[in-house]
Amino acid sequence: MPVINELSPLTNYFLEKEEMYGAHNYHPLPVVLTRGKGVFVWDVDDNRYYDFLSGYSAINQGHCHPRIIETFIEQAQRLTLTSRAFHNDVLGEYEEFITRFFGYDKVLPMNTGVEGVETALKLARRWGYEVKGVDKNKAKIITCANNFHGRTISVISYSTDDSSKRDFGPFTPGFDVIPYNDIPALKLALEDSNVVGFLVEPIQGEAGVIVPDEGYLAAAAKVCKDANVLFMADEIQTGLARTGRMLACDHENVRPDILILGKALSGGTMPVSAVLADNCIMDTIKPGEHGSTYGGNPLACKVAMTSLQVLVDEQMAENSLELGKYFRQGLRAIGHEHISVVRGKGLFNAIVIDHPDKDAAWAICLEMKKNGLIAKPTHGDRIRFAPPLLITREQTEECVEIIRKSMLLF
Ligand code: PLP
Repeated sequence: MPVINELSPLTNYFLEKEEMYGAHNYHPLPVVLTRGKGVFVWDVDDNRYYDFLSGYSAINQGHCHPRIIETFIEQAQRLTLTSRAFHNDVLGEYEEFITRFFGYDKVLPMNTGVEGVETALKLARRWGYEVKGVDKNKAKIITCANNFHGRTISVISYSTDDSSKRDFGPFTPGFDVIPYNDIPALKLALEDSNVVGFLVEPIQGEAGVIVPDEGYLAAAAKVCKDANVLFMADEIQTGLARTGRMLACDHENVRPDILILGKALSGGTMPVSAVLADNCIMDTIKPGEHGSTYGGNPLACKVAMTSLQVLVDEQMAENSLELGKYFRQGLRAIGHEHISVVRGKGLFNAIVIDHPDKDAAWAICLEMKKNGLIAKPTHGDRIRFAPPLLITREQTEECVEIIRKSMLLF
C-alpha cells in the first residue's frame, strides 16, 4: 500500500498528548481539528475539510450554526442548571415545544443518547409490569443483531459485537436478539407474552448504514401493536432530518410508541437526549424513580428548541432527501471495482470497500483526508458518509469528485 499522510509537527504534538494521557478507547483519523463552520472544519495547520461524519450525525445543522450558538450564549449568560430539585422557566416551554413538534403527550429529558436508550428500556419494563401485567422480573425486550444503542453495561448486554462486550460481563438479563429486517423472526419472538418492547434502529448506523427492506418498519410496528408490545425507535442517529424526513420512521408513516432522540437535538453543542411517549407509558414513572442532574437543564432546553426550529426553517430534511439521491447517483457513477455497495437514505450513506487488504477502507479515508474530506470506516470495510445537511449541490458534486480521486489509490 502506498505510504501517505505525513503529519505536521503541530499535529503530532496534539496526537502525542492524547496518546500519553488519554485512555485509548478510540482510534481517530490522524487529524487535529480546531474550528468548524457549516459543512467545513479546519485543522491546526489551517487545512480545510468537508466533514462527512458530522459528529456521528450530531451536527446535522452544520458546525457552529449561528442561531444555535446565539441561543446557547444568551441562555448561558442567564441560567445554565437548576437541577430538577427546582423548577426553571425554560423546561416547561421546551416540553410543550418538543411534544407538539413530534406529537406525543410527554417527554423525559436526558443528556447522552445511551441515557435516552436506558430510559426507554426502563419505561418499557415499567409499562410491562404496570399496564400490560407481566409477572415481576419477567419482562423481555427484543433487540436486533448488529445493533448499536450505546455503551452502558445494560445496553451492551444485547450487543452482538464482540469488541463492545469482551470482558465487560456479567451482563443484564431480559433481552432477546433477533435478526434485523426479519418480520417472521420478530413474530416468533413476540409469541412470548413476557415481551414488553421491541427496540430498533430504523436504519442501523454503526453497523454500516444498513437500510432495511421497504415496509419493514411499518410491518414491525403493526406486529408489535397486535402483540401489545411497545415499538421503540432509536432515532438518535437516524432522526432529525438525517435520512430526508424529520424521523426515519416518517418514511413509512410509523409513529413509535417510544421515540428516542439525541445527538443533533443540540446541533452538536452539548449532550441533549429526549424520550417521547404518551401518558399511558410516561405516567408509570413517579418522582424519585428516574432522572439525571443535567437532564432538562435550561441551557439544553433552549438550545434544543432552536436546533429543531433550524431544521424546519432551513428545510434540512428536504435538502437531505434531494441531495442524498444526487450523492448516491454520483457515488454509483464512480463505478470503481472496489466499491461493492453504495447504500443509504437521504444524506445518511455508506460504501462498502471490497478489497483483499483489510486496511483498504482506512487507507482510502486517509487519502480522502489528504484531498480535503474527512470520514471514518466502520467495521473495517464500510465508510459512512454523513455530511451536515446544509451542504449544497455544488459542494456535493465536489465531494463526489474527492471520493472518486481518492479511490484511485487502488
Ligand atoms: N443509539 C444510536 C443509534 C447511536 O448511533 C448512538 C451513538 O452513536 C447511541 C445510541 C449512543 O449515543 P451516545 O454516544 O450519545 O450515548
